[in-house]
Amino acid sequence: MEKIECDYCGAVLEGEEAEDPRMVDNLPVCDDCYKEHFQFFCPMCQEYQDIEGDQNHMFIHEEMAEEQGMEAGIYRIKECPWFISDMFSMTVIKENVERIADLRDDLLECGQGDYICNNCIERKGGG
Ligand SMILES: [Zn+2]
Ligand SMILES: [Zn+2]
Repeated sequence: MEKIECDYCGAVLEGEEAEDPRMVDNLPVCDDCYKEHFQFFCPMCQEYQDIEGDQNHMFIHEEMAEEQGMEAGIYRIKECPWFISDMFSMTVIKENVERIADLRDDLLECGQGDYICNNCIERKGGG
């Protein structure tokens, strides 16, 4: 069998990856690169979800809310970009986001502010 290499990192795909590689613009991409470039980790369901179509919500917890002068909660992203960042800090563009729900306990343990997939938004309410 011909060797299949990841278009991003050049790693040779093996096993299941090689049998049914993820394709981006008709080029094979390894799972790691796919996750890095095309997916995000949803802290609520603990699963990787596609950025395209699923990355419409995020949450901001107390600490970050204070920094940004916002209210902690779950936000819908109305328009991208929804933040400006440099190497040291990020600033939320408040006009581009909309608060839709309170923070839930299970989110308090997860990160600073992160994306939540649509499934979780629908399943646990808030939209
Ligand atoms: Zn790769
Ligand atoms: Zn989720």
